[in-house]
Amino acid sequence: MPATGHVGRYAPSPTGDLHLGNLRTALAAWLAARSSLGSLLLRMDDLDPDRVRPESAAAQMKDLRALGIDWDGAPIWQGTRFARYDAALRRLAELGRTYPCFCSRAEVRAAASAPHGPGEEGAYPGTCARLAPAEGDRRVAAGEPHCIRVRANGATRSFVDQSLGSVSAIVDDFVVRRRDGVPAYNLATVVDDAEMGVTEVVRGADLASTTPRQLWLADTLDLPAPSFLHVSLVLGADGSRLAKRHGAVTLADLAAAGLGAVDVRDLLARSLGVEAADGAPPAALVAAFDRAAIPHADLRYEAIGDTVRLTPIS
Ligand code: GLU
Repeated sequence: MPATGHVGRYAPSPTGDLHLGNLRTALAAWLAARSSLGSLLLRMDDLDPDRVRPESAAAQMKDLRALGIDWDGAPIWQGTRFARYDAALRRLAELGRTYPCFCSRAEVRAAASAPHGPGEEGAYPGTCARLAPAEGDRRVAAGEPHCIRVRANGATRSFVDQSLGSVSAIVDDFVVRRRDGVPAYNLATVVDDAEMGVTEVVRGADLASTTPRQLWLADTLDLPAPSFLHVSLVLGADGSRLAKRHGAVTLADLAAAGLGAVDVRDLLARSLGVEAADGAPPAALVAAFDRAAIPHADLRYEAIGDTVRLTPIS
């Protein structure tokens, strides 16, 4: 297929089987890229040694293929790209945009929830930003455990999401290299999306709050930024994000319950506003897809007998 349209990507973390919510996001990313006559790249976000399960990537690719989701070229593995992330970290350091942070997780949590803390969940209050550089260097040289944070100086970033509309947030001093030396999600994502030539990111709305940080990083590193379409989430009956405990949520579980891959694709396509006949082939779904028709509401997963429903939450 000629790459005249968007360059999209789907970037799962190979930490377990994809569930209906993940598969819905993957289908949305595929439909958006293919309907623009563009390409879709597959990237395995396999940087987290604590969570990655080596067998997961193959299982995820098998499930994507079973739904008719294909991608261009070989998958890209973040685990093979450390040199690029290190280069970006060096560049940020040269620009004076990083500092070491020695705070423990508990200290960050306590400071962030203090009455005059930054409020936003997970936002770093900047404790180590105020350390004298010589003091930071000394503690690093002494081998004190630390992560690396950006120095964002309270910048604000806004963007217009194709589904959520205008989003604006203060960029906190987020982590770019974890305590264990692993490049952090935001850094790896920005470096890779730029190098892969991604022009449109379609991903779950749970990641929308990371986008201002990623835009700040792209600006600071002088990298091009893609446009964004954050798709709504599938939630379990208890209102929390879909997970294994909610029942038959993976393709294998659903198959065991009598719902084949084509049924699941029909269900997901319909939930993305695609009107097509039952069992419509992937090309027909692409033809019927309209990104503006993707419903904005989150969906509730319900399994009643052997039927699975995704009901918009009003
Ligand atoms: N690997 C991330 C996840 O599975 C998604 C990364 C992204 O789309 O930016 O949650």
